[in-house]
Amino acid sequence: MESTLRRTWAEIKLDSIAYNYKKIREKIGPDVKFLGVVKADAYGHGSIQVSKLLQDLGADYLAVSSADEALELRVNGIDMPILILGHTPKEQVGRLIEYHITQAITCKAKADEYSEEAVRCGGKLKVHIKVDTGMSRLGYLCDDGYFDTGVEGIVEACNMPGLDAEGIFTHFAEADEFGDENDAYTKHQFELFTSVISSVEEKLGRKFAIRHCANTGAVARFENTYLDMVRPGLLLYGYGEFARQMGLKPAMTMKTTVSTIKIYPEGTAISYGGVYVTDKTTRIGVLPYGYADGFLRSLSNKCSLYTKEGPAKLRGKICMDMCMIDITDMPSVDVGSEVEIFGEKNSIDELASIAGTIPYELTCAVSKRVPRVYYRDGQIIEKELMLRM
Ligand SMILES: *Cc1c(COP(=O)(O)O)cnc(C)c1O
Repeated sequence: MESTLRRTWAEIKLDSIAYNYKKIREKIGPDVKFLGVVKADAYGHGSIQVSKLLQDLGADYLAVSSADEALELRVNGIDMPILILGHTPKEQVGRLIEYHITQAITCKAKADEYSEEAVRCGGKLKVHIKVDTGMSRLGYLCDDGYFDTGVEGIVEACNMPGLDAEGIFTHFAEADEFGDENDAYTKHQFELFTSVISSVEEKLGRKFAIRHCANTGAVARFENTYLDMVRPGLLLYGYGEFARQMGLKPAMTMKTTVSTIKIYPEGTAISYGGVYVTDKTTRIGVLPYGYADGFLRSLSNKCSLYTKEGPAKLRGKICMDMCMIDITDMPSVDVGSEVEIFGEKNSIDELASIAGTIPYELTCAVSKRVPRVYYRDGQIIEKELMLRM
């Protein structure tokens, strides 16, 4: 690794993502399409590199959260179908049509706007209709008293000029939680979704080409929800309980190096606020990794990081650019030694659990300052640095 990268860096193993993709493919079978969720810069892994890989592997669709995320992929050579899951301002409709980007339609107001704008541009916007079956976020509300009005609204959108309704989808709120009530909730969402589809298709006199709802939890646990396409994110990157159960591989390893070593006497307060005080002569390693790199400050004094001699306890508050570990009993850990923040040895799931959060938040938090090093077929294929020169 060159000097510019010797501080702190994230190794992204595209081979692991390819492995996970193939495993998920095996599980869903040949008749179900695969949409890879690459929003939020592919959960911090780099959406361009991950999308290129998925395109090469023959994935069917990608999903992002905004027009900018979609356009970034288009201008970087990704020509497979892309679905925008979230809000796009109507002013962008012309560009979506020009770049063949599919947009989610989430309510009547948006359907009206997008239709009008598409007609004005003289084109057709490909759309997937979003149904709110219980996530209570975006989508046509269809539960309980809203079934008929929901179905009517969706039929209306499908018939609007300028819109081409290729697909319909919903999102599960509890598919990744274990418990009978959670399972019943998911079952209800799925049954509602399929009834909405039947009603809409009957009224339209035609079928949707792509019906989809299975996120990570549902891909892992509910085969009956696969329909025409699955939509996993976290599973593809190899984190979480389901990934472990399926033997998938975590794609990102966050590494840093020991920058400085200090020896302190007993009774020394370490870092801001003095929340940790040494109880004996203590050898402390200062690491150039802090919350500005994406570390969660709530992990201060609570977790361990992985050295070549095993886990070393984090001592004191995590700072913006640094943190400290206890390497008193690790004589071979020296200045320049590598330390794994999370990855293959130090499980991100465990760190997330200590921080009271989910692994998604930890990979999404990895900041722009951290260079990404991409591996494919065991070789470094690209280094993405922040330096703007
Ligand atoms: C983020 C997202 C997903 C992927 O969720 P995972 O839990 O990472 O599988 C799927 N569908 C929608 C609508 C999403 O917003």
